[in-house]
Amino acid sequence: MKVRFEKYSRVTKFLDPALNFEENERPTEIRVDPLTGQTSRILHFPMRMLSKPDLEEIVKRSLEFGCPFCPQMLDMVTPKFTAELTKKERITRGTAVVFPNMFPYDTFSAVTIFSDEHFKPLGDFAPELLHDGFCASQEYLDAARRARPGSSLFYSVNWNYMPLAGGTIIHPHLQLIAGKDGTNYHRAILDASRHYAAQNSSSYWSDLVEEEIRLSERFIARIGKISWLTSFSPKGFIDIMAIFDRTPTIFEISEADWLDFSRGLSAAMKYLDGYGFYSFNMALYSGDGEQHFSTLAKLIPRVQLPPMNTSDMNYFNTLHNEVLTIFTPEDICAEVRKFFEGLG
Ligand SMILES: [Zn+2]
Repeated sequence: MKVRFEKYSRVTKFLDPALNFEENERPTEIRVDPLTGQTSRILHFPMRMLSKPDLEEIVKRSLEFGCPFCPQMLDMVTPKFTAELTKKERITRGTAVVFPNMFPYDTFSAVTIFSDEHFKPLGDFAPELLHDGFCASQEYLDAARRARPGSSLFYSVNWNYMPLAGGTIIHPHLQLIAGKDGTNYHRAILDASRHYAAQNSSSYWSDLVEEEIRLSERFIARIGKISWLTSFSPKGFIDIMAIFDRTPTIFEISEADWLDFSRGLSAAMKYLDGYGFYSFNMALYSGDGEQHFSTLAKLIPRVQLPPMNTSDMNYFNTLHNEVLTIFTPEDICAEVRKFFEGLG
């Protein structure tokens, strides 16, 4: 078997105060990402139910600062594209608008807003709304590609939803990035996919989907050419992944594919909403044309742990480049599947 799901159990013994100091033991699970070799740890930690904060209060406070993406401001305060990139000052599609990011992350950096609605609850994103935002974003990244003919660029579509996930503006928006350097993780998955293809004469992503379907432990659903699953070795508390079959770059995603992806994403967002989450990070990573790669997206909710609103990030993430979770991907998959029923 080419894709291997390796995990190790480590057991710690201690004299347990809950058992009158009799000897007890507790396991920790270490899981190896089959592509990158990076590890994640699954802890056995009792979890209280998540409770959402007063979102109305957060939204009200955000409006006191003023929102540059709301209709009365957008035209005046957001930048426009230069003619050398595109003939359109801003790219529009339905209610979606794309404009340059004034605080760029790379050579090509833009923002997509979905609509003129300042706040949209996690469970209220209709697939059609998401679809228009992604189509407009693709048009921008295509303009970046045309502006650098012959260059190999890293293209990504990213989303910080709500301040807990790093969003500084509540108004729902995507961040689009294209540049020749890429990020650590984006480079790592492209390099590892290339290495895997050279070793196995097949695509890691096709092999992964095939194996996950066979095992049926983490496979959520297939919608069109997109396979949804929970990652064996998660990159966050929960890691929901969408893999576009035989789609080496974002530019091979058709309008129908975007709608299929948006239907799945909308369902995944409804799952998060239903389980008390209210914030997430998302990234969609494009390849650079090598046939063994499949464009993929990852969706990771961000969490504050009760009762002290403890951060889900600690020294493991920041200083050890290691992810901790208290959720088992197989358990999460069983829950998410319910929200995808009838979509495949
Ligand atoms: Zn707004």
